[in-house]
Amino acid sequence: MSFPHLLSPLDLGFTTLRNRSLMGSMHTGLEDSRRQFERLAAYFAERAAGEVGLIVTGGFAPNIEGWAKPFAGTLATSGAARRHRTITNAVHAEGGKIALQILHTGRYGYHPLCVAPSALRSPISPFKPRELSARGIERQIRAFVRCARLAREAGYDGVEVMGSEGYFINQFLVAHTNQRQDEWGGSYANRMRLPLEILARMREAVGPDFIIIYRLSMIDLIPSGSSWDEVVQLGKAVARGGATLINTGIGWHEARVPTIATSVPRAGFTWLTAKLRAEFKAEGITTPLITSNRINTPEVAEEVLARGDADMVSMARPLLADAAFMKKAREQQADEINTCIACNQACLDHVFEQKTASCLVNPRASHETEMRVVRIQGRARRVAVVGAGPAGLAAATTLAERGHEVHLFDSAAEIGGQFNMARRIPGKEEFAETLRYFRRRIERTGVQLQLNRRAAASDLVDFDEVLLATGVTPRNPRIKGQDDPALAGRVLSYVDVLARRSRVGQRVAIVGAGGIGFDMAEFLTEPHSPALDLPAWQREWGVADPAEVRGGVCPAQPAAPARQVTLLQRKSGKPGAGLGKTTGWIHRAALKMKQVQMIAGVHYEAITDEGLWISFGERHEDPQLVAADTIVLCAGQEPLRELLEPLQAAGQRVQLIGGALEAGELDAKRAILQGTRVALAL
Ligand code: FAD
Ligand code: NAP
Ligand code: SF4
Repeated sequence: MSFPHLLSPLDLGFTTLRNRSLMGSMHTGLEDSRRQFERLAAYFAERAAGEVGLIVTGGFAPNIEGWAKPFAGTLATSGAARRHRTITNAVHAEGGKIALQILHTGRYGYHPLCVAPSALRSPISPFKPRELSARGIERQIRAFVRCARLAREAGYDGVEVMGSEGYFINQFLVAHTNQRQDEWGGSYANRMRLPLEILARMREAVGPDFIIIYRLSMIDLIPSGSSWDEVVQLGKAVARGGATLINTGIGWHEARVPTIATSVPRAGFTWLTAKLRAEFKAEGITTPLITSNRINTPEVAEEVLARGDADMVSMARPLLADAAFMKKAREQQADEINTCIACNQACLDHVFEQKTASCLVNPRASHETEMRVVRIQGRARRVAVVGAGPAGLAAATTLAERGHEVHLFDSAAEIGGQFNMARRIPGKEEFAETLRYFRRRIERTGVQLQLNRRAAASDLVDFDEVLLATGVTPRNPRIKGQDDPALAGRVLSYVDVLARRSRVGQRVAIVGAGGIGFDMAEFLTEPHSPALDLPAWQREWGVADPAEVRGGVCPAQPAAPARQVTLLQRKSGKPGAGLGKTTGWIHRAALKMKQVQMIAGVHYEAITDEGLWISFGERHEDPQLVAADTIVLCAGQEPLRELLEPLQAAGQRVQLIGGALEAGELDAKRAILQGTRVALAL
């Protein structure tokens, strides 16, 4: 497939972008230390070489008050600007263009010096902001303008002014967070004065031939958010007031609607950009609009642009997942793109855990300087990789890319291991893309794949090296009665349900509330996948047209659950506490909507014809029956490494990777990272 709209250049008058893709701003953590600028430069340079039209950096604060957290990356001096040359030179050397995002977090700042229009703490920060005086506001405006001037001095092609996601500028726009009585509060004209003042003065300072992107919140997804009339009024004023491009922002960070998780339908918010574009057209405004959120393949991007929803598409995480996304699209190799599955596990979750952001499907992201794929010198080794789950796939393809002779065995009829179960979960359909990518990469790199082949130790002794990526087996919780022949077919493991497709009754008790227990509850209660049906998803999460409801949120109308499910765990804490920081709340909210009952702190006493008997406390008190037709066991996993001992006994060189090495807290992020690292070192 060709992508004529996505690949057509965009003429901005004083400069031309080579195509319609923008690498959206994504904080990696490397911004916050000047010692990491070499790494940041290599990371961006790889994306520039991959032909993205315009890169936007992660956010840099214009001053201390604007910090996201203490000592966050700041651009406020000429000395700092000089250091940014490392980044801009590297990008320009690859023929790319790059803009610096100016991010003032206002009351979202995780530090005691944060400021805001009014002294109102946000629901997601422990710090109450200081209310700015009129002079204080003037200082912030000057800081924004200085930051843009310094960005130009540093060699950037432009800046993006962050005006959405509930940050500082957004906090002025909405009456709920701006309760000022002076010329910066009250009427909407007063509330939107701040961004317009910043833009006008910024344009004057940087001149006409410098890109200024304004990121505009098109739907706040909070009850008292902007109305559509206000969005349009601001959009027009921003277009006329000096912005070169207008980017789409979706939802404040405190919103309780998922906006980028894998369960959000692809391109699920581009209708808002389309709506604004129609308003612009009616008034002859030609400022290009960039649309955003859950656009992760060139096919989706092309469709959005061809439909006329926007002039450009922003993709942040998809460019982490594959630096060469646009190059592959241009070279008609879209099927080789490593697609972002929107899991957030190695990118946003890392940012929240104060770790460097990377990517689950591409562990080289942000580690370009250290994880180099170097072709081997000298003799290629014959390597057997046993198991084509995420760990084995990453290892086999990386080894083959480096020039080794690789034989990959799997006892199943298809590659993917547990990902074949994961992709059956409603809202996790994207996981199939990773398997498509690896299937193609196996062909391209020349890995010799043998499916339906359960490898025995005797098959492996002639290889120079064996990697055991044989994964895990479900843990048997050994609950009294579970193997009673009279209950045959009523006690199932997650593998029975997801891989063997065993029949499940109407009332279900799930033993184990980890990642798989939660997924199982979603699988059993969702009548269909809302991720594939935008109107159904919008009803499920209460997303409305902001032209009808201020802020674009209304009461949720979830579909009735397909089954009555009880989810249990032995620990006494909150079920799902170990789920990802940025997605755990979504899973918990989804199960609440599906009326899943969660019970923690239980002992499993017995399984009988009636269901599952549980009790509580040290003395196993208060016995209760969870009436159930089917009991599904999701009690964790244990490593499967039956080949290790015989191979070691035969003197074979052998290494374990993925679940075969360690099943505790195993996820695909660790499996792929481990597979890649081992393959790079061999
Ligand atoms: P596996 O995926 O288990 O693969 C092992 C492979 O080895 C299998 O294909 C098996 O057939 C093969 N094999 C075993 N023995 C032999 C032999 N002797 N010869 C040949 N082949 C053999 N992780 C996440 O990070 N995020 C998620 O959102 C997520 N969701 C999940 C949802 C579900 C429902 C499930 C079940 C898992 C989910 N996971 C998720 C976990 C993730 O899939 C695993 O962590 C990952 O697959 C482990 O990879 P692995 O390569 O170590 O093992
Ligand atoms: P898990 O997250 O470790 O959960 C195992 C569950 O089983 C826990 O609730 C545990 O809680 C229970 N359990 C453990 N031993 C038990 C026993 N002997 N008897 C009864 N219950 C027992 O593992 P998982 O759900 O199997 O998932 C496997 C991995 O896949 C996880 O590490 C996870 O990271 C990954 N995964 C991730 C996602 C995601 O969305 N990121 C989704 C699915 C899977 P108690 O001990 O308190 O009972
Ligand atoms: Fe996408 Fe997951 Fe990679 Fe983040 S970690 S970029 S969400 S695939």
